[in-house]
Amino acid sequence: MIVSKTEYSVVIAGGGPTGLMLAGELALAGIDVVVIERRTNHHVDKARAGGLHARTIEMLDQRGIAARFIEAGQVYPVVIYSLIPLTIADFPCRHNYTLGLPQSKFEPILAGWVEELGVTILRGREVMGYTQDASGVDIQLSGNMSLRAEYLVGCDGGRSLVRKAADIDFVGLEPSTSWLVAEVELDEQPEVGMRRDSIGTHGLNRIGDEGLVGLVLTERQLKRERDPSMDELRAALVDVYGTDFGLRNIRWISRFTDTTRQASSYRKGRVLLAGDAAHIHPPHGGQGLNTGVQDAMNLGWKLAQVVNKVSPDSLLDSYTAERHPVGAQVLRSTQVQVLLNSGGERHQSLRDTMTELLGMDEPRRRIAGMLTALDIHYDLGEGHPLLGRRMPDLELQTPDGAKRVYSFLHRAQPVYLNLAEHDSFDISPWADRVQLVHAVYDGIWALPDVGEVIAPKAVLIRPDGYVAWVGDGSSRGIFDALYLWFGGGG
Ligand SMILES: Cc1cc2nc3c(=O)[nH]c(=O)nc-3n(C[C@H](O)[C@H](O)[C@H](O)COP(=O)(O)OP(=O)(O)OC[C@H]3O[C@@H](n4cnc5c(N)ncnc54)[C@H](O)[C@@H]3O)c2cc1C
Repeated sequence: MIVSKTEYSVVIAGGGPTGLMLAGELALAGIDVVVIERRTNHHVDKARAGGLHARTIEMLDQRGIAARFIEAGQVYPVVIYSLIPLTIADFPCRHNYTLGLPQSKFEPILAGWVEELGVTILRGREVMGYTQDASGVDIQLSGNMSLRAEYLVGCDGGRSLVRKAADIDFVGLEPSTSWLVAEVELDEQPEVGMRRDSIGTHGLNRIGDEGLVGLVLTERQLKRERDPSMDELRAALVDVYGTDFGLRNIRWISRFTDTTRQASSYRKGRVLLAGDAAHIHPPHGGQGLNTGVQDAMNLGWKLAQVVNKVSPDSLLDSYTAERHPVGAQVLRSTQVQVLLNSGGERHQSLRDTMTELLGMDEPRRRIAGMLTALDIHYDLGEGHPLLGRRMPDLELQTPDGAKRVYSFLHRAQPVYLNLAEHDSFDISPWADRVQLVHAVYDGIWALPDVGEVIAPKAVLIRPDGYVAWVGDGSSRGIFDALYLWFGGGG
């Protein structure tokens, strides 16, 4: 490919789920963005994410693209916490389910949207290094190319070159356990299902009609090499099941560990981090891809406003302030799940206790709220329970007929939703960037982790779908909130 353009507003290193989502968000705001992706195609290692949680599906719905993913996946009314299924069918949320959709299918659908938005994705190129100064970043690419950008975002995965070159600490825990994950052909047909023993938890399942078997095996001893051999898999099968079931062929195999680390800051000057580049953890609970996509949605509109000079550079500090605690919570959750899945009788007692607790309504809601990320509550100060939480996708009556709240977020623009009969103050100075919607809503206001809340008279909704201000009929705080999040009125 001949690349003539060398200056962009934003360069994204890595076109995985996080980088693609961020590119889409920036493109919606009219930002000149390019994605640099090392892979030459959409091929994704099979041993990666298996699905989307409710909040991620909601976010895709906020952009009007959820149906593309839902059609390609399979709906399950539960989330799985350390192999314990927790129903979420009673959550007050349009997408109260988990969507089974392998990452290998998720990425091409997301890339399709990003390409529709006109984003350039340079495939087969690698970010090799960069230097930043007061006004921008010079980025060296493979093939003796270089680019200049106002901002560089590292969405380049757990081994992020961008993070390492920024010298941002990646603090956490060394691995204690490793797992083999593979799809194999066996001469014998084993009994499928889960098994727990003194080594840990293991699982076998049948895939399709061709006799393929999928397996996850806890290894007796920690191993770190990324590419396990057939002999290692054979030995692990014999260790757990007493036989290798006539292991004949491996379609693919991988190894993962419970290494758990988080970047101490998600920003250094003009360099930002998102997704696995900012946090890594074991896959228990299936939160990695979801957290990365949600990082991207938090960062996208903020970075766009800074580049468009609507907001000061300091708005970007709210990205680390909001997303670092969410990442830390995900890391804690996966550590607990690994412990619950460990082998041995002591852990069985722990597991039994946890299973009993999760049979109760309140703990189930709490843990499922966390796994689905529907419980995220950014600290925007004291106030109505909606403040800092996701806006529910209510069915509104508007002068143009019935409309869902999320339909107003498709272009990633903020919304001032007036639900009172009269609107006593004037937000027209923000009219070029904040949509004003007058509507009536007579139904119940409920949040998955809180229950019913008092109906507000108005709400200010950020482009990422979080509530920035809640009105009680007065104008108290609205102008401060508009100024803080969306810059000075024009
Ligand atoms: C076994 C396993 C199971 C998992 N299960 C789940 C699950 O059920 N649910 C879930 O949500 N998550 C799961 N995950 C985690 C999920 O796969 C990751 O969290 C997700 O892929 C992170 O997306 P990302 O875009 O941040 O990083 P990545 O997907 O790692 O993407 C980074 C991209 O950057 C590219 N790149 C790297 N370096 C450079 C460079 N220097 N220049 C240019 N390009 C570069 C890479 O080629 C890659 O495409 C699982 C992971 C594993 C290993």
